[in-house]
Amino acid sequence: MKIGTFAIAIHGGAGTLSRENMTEELERAHRDVLTQSLRSGHAILEAGGSALSAVEAAIVVLEDSPLFNAGKGSVFTHEERIEMDAAVMHGGLRAAGAVAAVTTIKNPIKAARAVMEKSSHVLLAESGAEAFAELVGCEIVSPEYFETEFRREQLRRAKSQERTVLDHDGGGMASVGSSSIDSSSGSNQDKKFGTVGAVALDKNGDIAAGTSTGGMTNKRFHRIGDTPLIGAGTFADNETCAVSCTGHGEFFIRNVVAYDVTALMKYKGLTLTQAADHVVNEKLRSIGGMGGLIAIDRSGTIVMPFNTAGMYRGAIGVDGTERVAIFS
Ligand code: ASP
Repeated sequence: MKIGTFAIAIHGGAGTLSRENMTEELERAHRDVLTQSLRSGHAILEAGGSALSAVEAAIVVLEDSPLFNAGKGSVFTHEERIEMDAAVMHGGLRAAGAVAAVTTIKNPIKAARAVMEKSSHVLLAESGAEAFAELVGCEIVSPEYFETEFRREQLRRAKSQERTVLDHDGGGMASVGSSSIDSSSGSNQDKKFGTVGAVALDKNGDIAAGTSTGGMTNKRFHRIGDTPLIGAGTFADNETCAVSCTGHGEFFIRNVVAYDVTALMKYKGLTLTQAADHVVNEKLRSIGGMGGLIAIDRSGTIVMPFNTAGMYRGAIGVDGTERVAIFS
């Protein structure tokens, strides 16, 4: 590892993202926000800030944009509420923080970081997490702040088809199962997962990961996905890599995906590229687990594998090269 090297990668969710389903205008809008997110994280790293701060800053931009399923613009639950999950992990300290099913915290990723830094716990939920966030100075807003007409329309469609929907749909319907409690498979013509995430390496050689989401449209019974579960949707360890996932959460939970990538490196000696590719393109794919992940190691190597048609993603590597992409 070369001290002084830094890099960052972000994602805005994976899914059946086809050019045909997206207007030029919408594509440009997504690319602009992804670029803004990347650059805000990168600027922090360049100035000598921590990977954790870079991850947080990059995610805040995506949470504040109504285009992604995190913070403002999150999807609706069956009861027409917005319940968000988020997590962060510091790879050097192996410290982590997360919040689940929160409804009033403007930037759930900031609350996740506060749980890590200002509490002795890892995961706080619902009104308890909100009370904690308020206590430590996170901005609290009314639940209406997160609502968008686009997401409300998605919920209407999901309800009319009695489906639980994995994130936003551009043209078709991202459906999972034929009833709202069956999230096994069903007719999945247009699955998209708009969760957002970031991973970064800072000049001190520390890596960090963060993920934030509104979960699934029409979700019920306070369903919580992989995002706030350390090891499933989010994980970081300086010895291996930092990982942020997006996809069908139930599969990511059952396969402890983020940790699995690090374990393959640690115990089997795989490279980051081999480990991430195995988990996403072999293991998950073979069981129908749709989605992808972004990961970075201590040398600044970045991988962004996904087994869906596309994934909103971007990176600024150790050489300073910036790239933003949507389709495969
Ligand atoms: N993984 C998220 C969840 O299951 C969804 C997503 O990635 O969009 O809650």
